[in-house]
Amino acid sequence: PFDVLIVGAGPAGAAAAVYDARKGLRTGLLGERFGGQVLDTMAIENYVSVPETDGPKFAAALEQHVRAYDVDIMTGQKAAALVPASRNGGLHELHLENGAILHAKTLVLAPGARWRHMNVPGEDIYRTKGVAYCPHCDGPLFKGKRVAVIGGGNSGVEAAIDLAGIVQHVTLLEFADSLRADAVLQTKLHSLPNVTVITHALTTEVVGDGRKVTSLHYRDRRTEQAHEIVLDGIFVQIGLVPNTEWLRGAVTLSERGEIVVDAHGATSAPGVFAAGDATTTPYKQIVVAVGEGATAALSAFDYLIRLPVE
Ligand code: FAD
Repeated sequence: PFDVLIVGAGPAGAAAAVYDARKGLRTGLLGERFGGQVLDTMAIENYVSVPETDGPKFAAALEQHVRAYDVDIMTGQKAAALVPASRNGGLHELHLENGAILHAKTLVLAPGARWRHMNVPGEDIYRTKGVAYCPHCDGPLFKGKRVAVIGGGNSGVEAAIDLAGIVQHVTLLEFADSLRADAVLQTKLHSLPNVTVITHALTTEVVGDGRKVTSLHYRDRRTEQAHEIVLDGIFVQIGLVPNTEWLRGAVTLSERGEIVVDAHGATSAPGVFAAGDATTTPYKQIVVAVGEGATAALSAFDYLIRLPVE
């Protein structure tokens, strides 16, 4: 069995692997692909100490760092279920989609999250070419330009406020008849001179010139009229979905499906730790995920050295 088995090979999982391998633990890292969401990113300019890099480069650096240690790397694999140990110090079982079962004394869960997509024509084609999901990450790329934010919940309104300070103009589109964000955020939003709010708006298509986004089409749900907005960027803020469906019943999840963790990265199951975007951590960023991966890895080590000698 593994001392530590890590699920997810994004920034959080990679950091956990480096930390536990350096403790001399028998470490396994299982993931669909190395790099996680980072692979879908173009410019990364907020990983402190690296002023500028891009997704594929950052993912390759993560992989190279992990491969410098003795880590059993299993990519192209997906975990399907977790059966936590029935007694303290017992082995946890990880069931894979291919039918295999792995055993481990501790686990670090780092399956990350996925941004909910609009699923309209053009969205996939223009992802990273104007269609963006992370205002903290990509906002500055649209300095002085016109953008739209899709979604009037807290994250959409926060994104619109954030972007209004950087870009020339923001149009916020909400599907329902009113915004759902907290009142203080709405008040702040309406005080900004360069923001337009449109409700009852159903986005229907992302249009571009082959290289980048040029406009957005939406339909007014009251009048059924079609409209076009000329712009350079579209920030989709209709939810971040944690990849935790397979963990239901194994560890406690929040209402939003996030793995509930404490400051040590401990989950509700003893010996099972978690890190990164899949957890209740408030900010979903690479530098945060890496730090949490280290925390979860050190907590796993701490748990192991306290196990009774067999
Ligand atoms: P992830 O990166 O999501 O990695 C989790 C991995 O686990 C994935 O590879 C997933 O496929 C795999 N996995 C999921 N379920 C299973 C399973 N059952 N079995 C096995 N493997 C599984 N952050 C920044 O700090 N700066 C930026 O500039 C930036 N830009 C971004 C741009 C885009 C377009 C996106 C989508 C995100 C961006 N982010 C950025 C956010 C950042 O990518 C995430 O915060 C970070 O990747 C989270 O790391 P993680 O390890 O928790 O999860």
